[in-house]
Amino acid sequence: MPFFTLNQILVLLINLLAIVIGFLVLKHSPHKKIKTIFLFMTLLMLFWVDFAYFPRLIGKEFPFLALFFLKIAWLVTPLFFTSLYFLTIFLLEKERKYKNLTKSVLFFGLLSTFLTGLTNLVVADIKFAGPYLAIEYGPAMLPFLAMISFLIFATLFPLFREYFQASRILKSKLKYFIIGLFGFYLANVIFNILFPLVFKIVHLYWIGDYSTFFLLGCTAYAIVRKELFEVKVILTEFLVALIAILLLVDFFLSKTSFEYFWKGILFFTFLIFGNFLIKSVIREIKLRKKLEEAYQKLKKLDEAKTEFVSITSHQLRGPLGLIKGYLWMILNQKYGPFPEKLSRPLKNTFEATQRLVKVVNDLLNLSRIELGKISLEKRYFQIEKIVDNIYKELLPVAQKKKLEFKIEKPKRPLPKILGDPLKIREAIFNLVDNAIKYTQEGFVKISLEEKNGFVLIKIADSGIGFDPQEIKDLFEKFRRVGRGKLIDTQGTGLGLYIAKKFIELHKGRLWAESPGRGKGSTFYIKLPFNG
Ligand code: ADP
Repeated sequence: MPFFTLNQILVLLINLLAIVIGFLVLKHSPHKKIKTIFLFMTLLMLFWVDFAYFPRLIGKEFPFLALFFLKIAWLVTPLFFTSLYFLTIFLLEKERKYKNLTKSVLFFGLLSTFLTGLTNLVVADIKFAGPYLAIEYGPAMLPFLAMISFLIFATLFPLFREYFQASRILKSKLKYFIIGLFGFYLANVIFNILFPLVFKIVHLYWIGDYSTFFLLGCTAYAIVRKELFEVKVILTEFLVALIAILLLVDFFLSKTSFEYFWKGILFFTFLIFGNFLIKSVIREIKLRKKLEEAYQKLKKLDEAKTEFVSITSHQLRGPLGLIKGYLWMILNQKYGPFPEKLSRPLKNTFEATQRLVKVVNDLLNLSRIELGKISLEKRYFQIEKIVDNIYKELLPVAQKKKLEFKIEKPKRPLPKILGDPLKIREAIFNLVDNAIKYTQEGFVKISLEEKNGFVLIKIADSGIGFDPQEIKDLFEKFRRVGRGKLIDTQGTGLGLYIAKKFIELHKGRLWAESPGRGKGSTFYIKLPFNG
């Protein structure tokens, strides 16, 4: 027989991995009962896998010993199923609720263990079918299978009953456990029961046996998995431990004392570096966790702030509108004439209120944008009408500054635009308002034209302009640049930010150009007709 058959490699590997996994769970699980039962299961699994393997190695020469070994393998099987039940109950933390079920599980688990281990009623004898080992079953084989089925049922019943009521965290843990469980059951039913008993296929038994490892792997993951972060630590530890064990095995296989010497040094050096590696991974992960926590805190704070601004500005809007309305009516003598000396204070108050309304509006818009709460009320509208309207509203302001204020429209009417007219009006209004505000002399020109499926709105002025490298800053919130700050000391730096967002919500673009400070500027809006 060649030394390294697939089976031999697998058995060796499973043994090694089981030790590593056992260590990991021992180290990382905070739950004492779960830890204990898991280690017990790992031990049972090793007994199962190894003692099912030995008879096949020595069976022909020592048939009695082979039968003895095989019985050990069979005896631990019901014990494994029983401890699986306990693990489930521990994971669910429902020991009290299923007290009676636990008693039955213990009874049938121990009974079937006794029957397989100490009598010939389940496993009667072994014989060889060619190179493979076949088992002669005793008369209690069917009751044995029934008891195993009961153990399986007793495990699945509470598991599924509690799963649906479990917390999110427990659910995500149980998920991995369930995956392992089903892989294990399936492999067992197919390769350990169906194949040998029904189809007389005996050489694939090991798939069923070794699926215990799959189950343990998934379970270990479920137990030690706290957050995704820790997986990295655990994987590193796993790898380091695995290499260490392999090095140790290699050490014991040394033939000369020189080999012992340098392999020993290799082993210890690796231990030191492995330890160092694990520690550094842990450190890195802790740091990242801290950063993540700090970031989450800041984010929450930022959201709270935005929410606060949103609520306050919303509350301010109502009374402000009222004040502005009454002031307007008084100024326009709707309540009759007022003394001449009140004219200035009233006008100043009205203008201040108007500015305040704009600031509050901007803040409200800003908070809505940041909270993602902007909703567009779309309908078809004529863009020229909106621009005309803005032009008329701002004409007195431009005239007061003695600016040449012009509007240029195409001869034929433009197609209607589908969008939120109020938001688009606000965006264009901001640009024209800025152009007038930041131009001391010269002109402000608005033009509209159609360009393959888009409308292009240009607002050009001969005002203060800006440096090309300032362009990016213009559209940042609360950002004000150059001389703009001096000219309008009360601006908030929100207008362009909001305008850009509104246009982008319509799948359009807003950008600015200027040859330099003092040389005027042009703002562009490109809007699709069907935004
Ligand atoms: P605000 O006008 O309240 O300061 P905006 O977001 O509307 O806020 O504008 C941001 C900055 O962009 C202004 O402070 C100004 O420096 C600059 N800016 C805006 N429009 C123009 C323009 N037409 N010409 C030159 N600079 C402008």
